[in-house]
Amino acid sequence: MSDNKKDTEWGFDTLAVRAGQARTAEGEHSEPIFPTSSYVFDSAASAAARFSGEEPGNIYSRFTNPTVRNFEQRLAALEGGERCVATASGMSAILSTCCGLLQAGDHIVSSKSIFGSTVVLFDKYLSRMGITVSYVSLTDLDAWQKAITKNTRLFFVETPSNPLTEVGDIEALANLAHNNNSVLVVDNAFCTPALQKPLEFGADVVVHSATKYIDGQGRCIGGAVVGDEKLVGEDVFGFLRTAGPTMSPFNAWVFLKGLETLNLRMKAHSENALKLAEFLEQHKNVNRVYYPGLKSHPQHELAVKQQSGFGGVLAFDMQGGKKAAWNLIDNTNLLSITANLGDTKSTITHPASTTHGRLSDEQRAEAGISDGMLRIAVGLEDINDIIRDIEQGL
Ligand SMILES: *Cc1c(COP(=O)(O)O)cnc(C)c1O
Repeated sequence: MSDNKKDTEWGFDTLAVRAGQARTAEGEHSEPIFPTSSYVFDSAASAAARFSGEEPGNIYSRFTNPTVRNFEQRLAALEGGERCVATASGMSAILSTCCGLLQAGDHIVSSKSIFGSTVVLFDKYLSRMGITVSYVSLTDLDAWQKAITKNTRLFFVETPSNPLTEVGDIEALANLAHNNNSVLVVDNAFCTPALQKPLEFGADVVVHSATKYIDGQGRCIGGAVVGDEKLVGEDVFGFLRTAGPTMSPFNAWVFLKGLETLNLRMKAHSENALKLAEFLEQHKNVNRVYYPGLKSHPQHELAVKQQSGFGGVLAFDMQGGKKAAWNLIDNTNLLSITANLGDTKSTITHPASTTHGRLSDEQRAEAGISDGMLRIAVGLEDINDIIRDIEQGL
């Protein structure tokens, strides 16, 4: 089962259940957790050979751990990448990617609709290390082209975006990056490889917040970086093993189990979200619904091309602004009022006063976040109950 040649011939669902498992002499069926910080060597010579890199094998769990490796090999197989390195969180996946691939003087072009903490990481911390960032619209290829400088080395996107669910053209962005001496990094937390495989469209690196759909049940914080041997296996891993934002074996085991049901869950999230989107779209108190699965979505065709499903997150604009939006939230009985997503439990949030609350009114308007907008991460409850819970607040 750890024979990687055979792994590549298996279908997605088989890889999700079996890839990367190296059974121990105990013959266990389920993957074991290895809670050990260090490893012992057979002899002084063997210790020396491990440390010098002549002999492969474990030394210390900041570098490698069997449970973490199992998760890494399984996710790499699902994304179609040569290597995966697991990290302590989604943010440390992004930090490790930037620190592994960039140096002072380098420039990033990024979509402006990315996770809030990623913006803070770029603007407040990477800037201190002499790395600069330009933000452009995810869907405006001309703006990407214009933002490129001679120092540009990295493109960063999240698609679909949050909460407006804009879809970026991964293939076109990858071509533009490659023609300009840059790599394309895609944050694939919203789709996961069950719905979208950015590497197949030419992206160089995929980053994940495993906290979201890979866990899928709201338990652990974790992340991952997937790509080739050079970028991820050497450059990102080199930073990670030294700086240390490594995934714990226990969390790796939870995520490993999450991967086994990922495809089933993502299909179910997508089905529920589409039904809710269709319900909202025909409701008289809803101005607009943002969901790539709707034919009315401006990039619906592109989403069909690069995604095999449309995911669990949607947003909509209510008539009556903030008052109506807050009223709907306060009238729900089933939905959890939280900004988290990627859980079996449906969640509802008012972006203008939470995730995007620190922006000025102008910035919010520019980002397309209206006062009447609500975002729902549709969970796996009975869709009729979810719709009824929202309907009473509409
Ligand atoms: C949550 C999230 C992150 C950050 O992940 P953590 O695991 O919370 O560090 C990054 N990108 C996206 C798209 C996210 O949703």
